[in-house]
Amino acid sequence: MKLIGKIALGAVAIVALLAAVVVFRTLTFKPPASVDIGTVRLAPAPAIDQALAAQHLSQAVQIRTVSNQNKADNQWAEWDRLHAWLAATYPAAHAAMTREILPNKALVYTWTGSDPALKPIVLMAHQDVVPITPGTEKDWKHDPFGGEIAEGAVWGRGSIDDKGSLVALFEGVEALAKAGFKPKRTVIVVSGQDEEAGGTGAQAAAALLKSRGAQAEWVLDEGSAAINDHPITGKPAAVIGIAEKGYATLIVTAPAKGGHSSAPPKDTGVGTLAKAITAITDKQFPLRLDGPGAQMISTLSAQGSFVTRMAIANQWLFGPMLKDKVAATPAGAALLHTTIAPTMLKGSPKENVLPQDAAAWINYRIAPGQTTDDVMAAARTATNGLNVQLKWAGAAINPSPVSSTSSEGWKVIAALASDGGRLPVAPGLVAAGTDSRYMTPIARDIYRYQPILANLDTFGMIHGTNEHMSLENLARMTTFYARLVASAAG
Ligand SMILES: [Zn+2]
Repeated sequence: MKLIGKIALGAVAIVALLAAVVVFRTLTFKPPASVDIGTVRLAPAPAIDQALAAQHLSQAVQIRTVSNQNKADNQWAEWDRLHAWLAATYPAAHAAMTREILPNKALVYTWTGSDPALKPIVLMAHQDVVPITPGTEKDWKHDPFGGEIAEGAVWGRGSIDDKGSLVALFEGVEALAKAGFKPKRTVIVVSGQDEEAGGTGAQAAAALLKSRGAQAEWVLDEGSAAINDHPITGKPAAVIGIAEKGYATLIVTAPAKGGHSSAPPKDTGVGTLAKAITAITDKQFPLRLDGPGAQMISTLSAQGSFVTRMAIANQWLFGPMLKDKVAATPAGAALLHTTIAPTMLKGSPKENVLPQDAAAWINYRIAPGQTTDDVMAAARTATNGLNVQLKWAGAAINPSPVSSTSSEGWKVIAALASDGGRLPVAPGLVAAGTDSRYMTPIARDIYRYQPILANLDTFGMIHGTNEHMSLENLARMTTFYARLVASAAG
């Protein structure tokens, strides 16, 4: 055989071997199982009047606990109304639990368990809602604060975020208390009054619990949900957030002298600022196939196509391709790295005036494994040699720790989220911030999951127009919380 023939044959043999390895690894690939629900003891659901629960959510939506940008604009009497309404609507829950109203109107309820050796669990749902964006009131099909029950849903601001959780949580506790349930493990309910405006309530609640030496077994808050059309599989999946990204905004300032724009210097403030923004955004943080975002992809690959499983099972070969595929959408890319988003700019107040100092605001969402210091260091390196100053606007918040996917808390939450095994469950990364981040000092494991099942595009109504909770999802939630408390604390 001629040499060229030998080389060709060798190449064919190598390709065949590679293909064999890829197929073998794909066929033998076992995605990480989220939970073996057969091993989890779940308490049955108590009787809950779902029609009455819908009435209650309707009433809660009508109480205008709106968190404004400027807290002085808030109608704080509405929070007092909500507190009185909770007490009147859920008498058995209020008889079973002690209620503390903190000075900032956060609520802390304690349902003391009979076994002090068991660590408490903490359930969270915030009281406040975001305002209606001015000018969009007329786009609502039903009055945003009317609490109308129509088209098989409760309509209005907060019906999902987060009065849906607050009401469902109390429906569950009320039903259990009425049925004579007595927890072995202490159950603590924390309801912040300003989740949408800083979370000082959750911080105060965490400080109070810490001062009492409380260490929670786990915490459950909002943050993620079950999706009918999950982007990885195109099928339903419940995603439980096991971490949330950090949050920080960098102010980049280019100092300049100002003056008349008819005689500009060679380097203008705006020109320097533009170079700095470009330098920072050109240095994107590398996409990484590890951490909670990647864990979700890998767990859900069990339900994915053969090609998806092949790529996940053979990351040594398809890793770069897989990263590109996931990062093809901005939401996908956000799962795999720290994002950099320039959001606001400041120049001069007039077109023929040079700015005295030009500034840009760059918002970062920091992936687990990185810190605010890493982000600042990267920005300094990128802008090295440019005449700019860098500083944080307000508090720069690190990503949360990553919670366990083998704890007892994970097991019971995941088993309930699986809806009797009908929904695959995966851990995930929450890109937005929740009040639960402030619970880190009192709990190692913090989970973020709201038990609603909806299409991906319907999640746009949260903080948007036509927010509504379907009666089906409300029933799903009330049952979920009741069974969760009965299973984890019973
Ligand atoms: Zn919320």
